[in-house]
Amino acid sequence: MNADRPKKKKIVKTIQIDLDKCNGCRACEMACSTFHARPRYASNNPARSRVRVLFDPLRDLYVPVYAGDYAPAECCGRDRYTIEGKTYDECGFCRASCPSRDLFKEPDSGLPLKCDMCQEDPELKEPMCVQWCITDALTYVEREEEVEEENAAQPEELETGLEALADKFGLEKIAEAVARLAAARKG
Ligand code: SF4
Ligand code: SF4
Repeated sequence: MNADRPKKKKIVKTIQIDLDKCNGCRACEMACSTFHARPRYASNNPARSRVRVLFDPLRDLYVPVYAGDYAPAECCGRDRYTIEGKTYDECGFCRASCPSRDLFKEPDSGLPLKCDMCQEDPELKEPMCVQWCITDALTYVEREEEVEEENAAQPEELETGLEALADKFGLEKIAEAVARLAAARKG
């Protein structure tokens, strides 16, 4: 971080997960997918949810995982965690939308899904998945952080979407489409 750059306060929104309280009901998936349906609440498909619950009742494993950043390539090393006697699968806690699995991909387009913390105007009191988690396995937490002005303004969401589109259709086609759009707006 550059000490000379101006700083600004930023509210960081997080969801804390208590694995011991999760019972695998998947209400969080339902709530997320229906809230993000277009039109809103018109459909309900967990494959479109930005939180997915990986569960294995025989091993008493229930892990809600939030969709994070898009990754264009698989990673070359994978981790397996054993916590309090339970062994979690490789990639079990990974949040990436990556080529090695179907998780966090919009089923029709294949484009990556990412949790947007239910950004809405006016703001929701709590994200939908938290509201519908009746066991309190999910808790909404806000904290304040100081960030550089430049970083705070970076359009990360846009870059993620553009990178995924470029992977799917090729940079040239994306550039052509942008040029067409720009021309249409000028005209
Ligand atoms: S709604 Fe809560 S208890 Fe149910 S699967 Fe999601 S995190 Fe687990
Ligand atoms: S915070 Fe909102 S967008 Fe993120 S997983 Fe929960 S319901 Fe979906």
